[in-house]
Amino acid sequence: MDTAASPDLFEAESRALQAARTAYDTCATSATSATNEPAPCRQALGDLLGAYERLLRETRRLVRRSDRAELEMNQLNLRLQDLAAELEYRATHDPLTGVLNRAAIIELVNRHFVRNDLALIVLDIDHFKRINDSFGHPTGDRVIQGVVTCLKDEVPAAAQIGRVGGEEFTVVLPGQGGDACRQVAHALRHAIEAYAFELPDGSSVTASFGVSWMPCGSSFDDAYGLADEALYVAKRGGRNQVALASGPVHAQSA
Ligand code: GH3
Ligand code: MG
Ligand code: MG
Repeated sequence: MDTAASPDLFEAESRALQAARTAYDTCATSATSATNEPAPCRQALGDLLGAYERLLRETRRLVRRSDRAELEMNQLNLRLQDLAAELEYRATHDPLTGVLNRAAIIELVNRHFVRNDLALIVLDIDHFKRINDSFGHPTGDRVIQGVVTCLKDEVPAAAQIGRVGGEEFTVVLPGQGGDACRQVAHALRHAIEAYAFELPDGSSVTASFGVSWMPCGSSFDDAYGLADEALYVAKRGGRNQVALASGPVHAQSA
């Protein structure tokens, strides 16, 4: 609370004190006493005035102290909220790319499956070990970041991107059917192939894709298992391609 801007909390008490002080001074000028001693009631009023003034000073000091403590507590509260948000972000996001981490993707997919059908795209960078071995880990890291840039540029607004392994990512497409998610996967494959990664030898980077589409009530394990099988079909088929899961649900939609 800002005491400077707010009205005096003790305005009534100050006025009463002022009136009592005036009465006390008036008693002094009109007092007549043979002994020049203050009358007992004047003496008592003087004592009372002193005690009340001290009490008011002390109370004002305590109010100021409590205002400062309240301000500090509000500031600490805000800092705590910031830290809680930061902690939540760190627990759910991949530090290298800023996309959702594996645990967050699993939770998100299972949450969507309670109410929605869902398409899951799993992609894995081709021959990524070779990139690390040839140009070093930092270059490999930049390639991972570049792939995420491609994903962010291409996915529909409702999609969520996750990093589920070293050089493996998922794109979650809630409510999407087989055709739509296959088209998204093809667009992503093309975007990565065409992206200027600027590797020292001028080579391009590609990724392989597995796609599954599962109905409401499924689980991450179901969807991921099928998409992962499809991904390995794409790898075995020569990489830089999209393969569709051959699960019963997906077979109807492909
Ligand atoms: P494939 O085409 O079959 O997918 O082959 P690959 O070389 O991409 O796959 P492999 O699993 O053999 O190698 C993946 C490599 O990714 C191995 C690991 O050291 C590297 N890796 C994992 N996480 C990171 C990371 O955060 N940064 C970098 N630079 N490398 C990583
Ligand atoms: Mg790979
Ligand atoms: Mg891999």
